[in-house]
Amino acid sequence: MLEIRIMITSMETLTKQQKSDIRLIGKFVEVYCDGKHATAEKMAFPLPQDLGERRICRDCSDFLAYAVARRLKCPLESEKPSCKHCRIHCYARPQLAKVKEIMAYSGKKLMLRGRLDYIWHYFF
Ligand SMILES: [Zn+2]
Repeated sequence: MLEIRIMITSMETLTKQQKSDIRLIGKFVEVYCDGKHATAEKMAFPLPQDLGERRICRDCSDFLAYAVARRLKCPLESEKPSCKHCRIHCYARPQLAKVKEIMAYSGKKLMLRGRLDYIWHYFF
């Protein structure tokens, strides 16, 4: 766990697309954690480069570390697919179920809050 984070934060250059996807998943996980794990103890999860940090619980940190690592290792970088429409779907089954739940839950919440900047990236 710790090793994954160090690997992530010390990554040197990210493409614009990687940054945007990582910013998006970070926000979605935070919104999900806020709503679903309101009483859980939160910790800071540092995103790579200048993407800031998210305050989420331990379970969500584990998931986010996985999601960020998968995104950084995406073999289809040159095709610039959106993860939603990917032809590979690199997530293992449990994490895939989790990300779908998170996207559905947080997508709805962000839409209600009028955060169309995030929604735009998610649907298009
Ligand atoms: Zn959580």
